[in-house]
Amino acid sequence: MNLSFSLYRLQTLDTQRQKINKRLAQIEAALNADEEVRLKLQEKTQAEAELAARHHHLEQIEAETREKRLKLELNQVQLFGGKIRNPKELQDLQAESEALNRFIHKLEEMHFEALMEQETAQKALTEAENAHQTAVNQKISENALLAGERGTLTSEMGKLNSQREALIQTLPAEIVSQYDNLLRVKGGKAVASIVDDGCEACGVELSPRDMQAVRSPNALFRCKTCGRILYKG
Ligand SMILES: [Zn+2]
Repeated sequence: MNLSFSLYRLQTLDTQRQKINKRLAQIEAALNADEEVRLKLQEKTQAEAELAARHHHLEQIEAETREKRLKLELNQVQLFGGKIRNPKELQDLQAESEALNRFIHKLEEMHFEALMEQETAQKALTEAENAHQTAVNQKISENALLAGERGTLTSEMGKLNSQREALIQTLPAEIVSQYDNLLRVKGGKAVASIVDDGCEACGVELSPRDMQAVRSPNALFRCKTCGRILYKG
């Protein structure tokens, strides 16, 4: 078999292996990435805290309203009970009654607003819970797809590795070692095809003499510019 053709075959296998390895790394990263789920969980937790705060605020208003109503009841008993006859005292009680009524009215307004705020917070929490669940479900189905793709790629990789092994057995060890070194230092591309009388990798044009040399079946010819092994199909 033509040596440069064998190396070209080897390069084709290695290019496929590089692509698969790159995709496998992407899949691994995607399987481990859960930013979306984490973000939605964070938003849900915030919405829970917001609802709890709104609920607490509402309870405070209710407690204060109860206290003021109790005070007003006592005030009314004193004001209309007939035991207090001193006009000054009665006047003070009347003033207190009016102040309490104003305060209670104000609290009722605040209660209504707080109730609305609590409702809004409850709605936001429901939405955040749904968004979180959606993100979790999406992640689960994405991961299932990715795991499937990883399985396919892994078995493809196994086949490529076997083909590579078999091909290497047919090549002289020093040629393989030369190829492997080139592969390492030339960004994963040790063999370049000749396209339009030029090196496919670096673009340099070859002289007719060089073209002649490249066609020689048992010697390897390397690009004078980029150093890669050249192959003429
Ligand atoms: Zn070149």
